Amino acid sequence: MAPILPGAVIGFLGGGQLGRMTAFAARSMGYDVHVLDPDEHAPARAVASRFIRAPFSDGDAVVDLARGGAAVLMPEIETISADGMARAVAYAPVRPSAEVLHVVQDRARQKEWLHSSGFPLTPFAILASEQDCRDASSRLHGPCFVKTTTGGYDGRGQVRVGGPEELLDGWRALGSRRCVAEQAVSLALEMSVMVARTPSGRICSYPPAANHHESGILAWSVIPAPVDDALQTRAREIASSIAVALRVEGLLCVEQFLSVDGELLVNELAPRPHNSYHETIEGCLTSQFEQAVRAICDLPLGETDPVRPAAIANLLGELWPHQGVPAWGAAMSVPETRLHLYGKRDARPGRKMGHVAATAPTSGEAVARAVSARNVIAVARGVPTWDATRWIDGHPLRSSRTTETS
Ligand code: ADP
Ligand code: MG
Repeated sequence: MAPILPGAVIGFLGGGQLGRMTAFAARSMGYDVHVLDPDEHAPARAVASRFIRAPFSDGDAVVDLARGGAAVLMPEIETISADGMARAVAYAPVRPSAEVLHVVQDRARQKEWLHSSGFPLTPFAILASEQDCRDASSRLHGPCFVKTTTGGYDGRGQVRVGGPEELLDGWRALGSRRCVAEQAVSLALEMSVMVARTPSGRICSYPPAANHHESGILAWSVIPAPVDDALQTRAREIASSIAVALRVEGLLCVEQFLSVDGELLVNELAPRPHNSYHETIEGCLTSQFEQAVRAICDLPLGETDPVRPAAIANLLGELWPHQGVPAWGAAMSVPETRLHLYGKRDARPGRKMGHVAATAPTSGEAVARAVSARNVIAVARGVPTWDATRWIDGHPLRSSRTTETS
């Protein structure tokens, strides 16, 4: 199998910020970029020489992207027309493949696949009826999360209930749709591990990122996660094994929970670049975006070593004033920070509009810088600041508990 070399066209199925930043990397490497997205103002459109405006369910548009000269298609989201991808492969490979997206796009299917493949998960049950809720309540313990099997992201489409006896209420609150119920994990830390794998089977992983959410949305993320080597190795092994078992071609991000008992559990999979690895642009020898291009084009993978601890803080829509722009200048005066904006027009609360990245001598200082740059904007806009000090100082992983995992 020959690699796809610079000069070829990469077709992006989805033109959000992940597609945009991957397209920037592709452009830097000399590839041309085509994009399909339903939004005429899609962030990646600015980087594309050809733009197809169509819904992701439009199979003919997916085929059109492949027939228009693309050497490879990269899905940026999981909801692309399966029929379209099945027909498109006659013209260009889809990487990661439709089979990978099929497993990942439905939470229940993903959980069942992970479970049957032997990967560690918090206890879960699938809820499709009131009887399922009653059955699950005898098997799960303590607080639980109920999550819709499709359509959820950034904490949407899920509720936390106080105990298994409330599963039925939670299921109804989500519209009595097919759901997954899972036991809440007592979290010491949330981590993620990015893996890249090529069609020829070359594979590499990044050091784990540590992630903090506010209201179910990723707020900040830092690499390397301040955890000991044994835990880093274990998290990377889990993620790599999943990528191999799924035969991923491209990127796979594996979100993991570290429980207070020192147990690593898989939360969910994302077969694409991930918000928690945006800081690889500043912090690693190869960014996740360049790595995505290398992987789908079957090129040698880049080194993933950290060059300097790096963090990001997300810039969500509530930071945008009704008139004018946020206080960029003040934010960028924080040392070693860089601004990344996605070119989105409508700033709705909770919408990811951009991020600030910061580097520093330690992971804790990198988080402090990124969050303080974000907070400068928040103060100017009059929205609540984020407090990272307790997260940094009281880091659970500095306690002796984590050594139990080695
Ligand atoms: P999303 O698709 O919105 O990212 P997740 O399943 O990753 O959905 O849940 C979002 C966040 O909610 C997680 O990152 C975590 O902070 C919290 N969460 C979800 N499930 C659990 C769980 N079983 N135990 C503890 N926290 C959870
Ligand atoms: Mg998640």
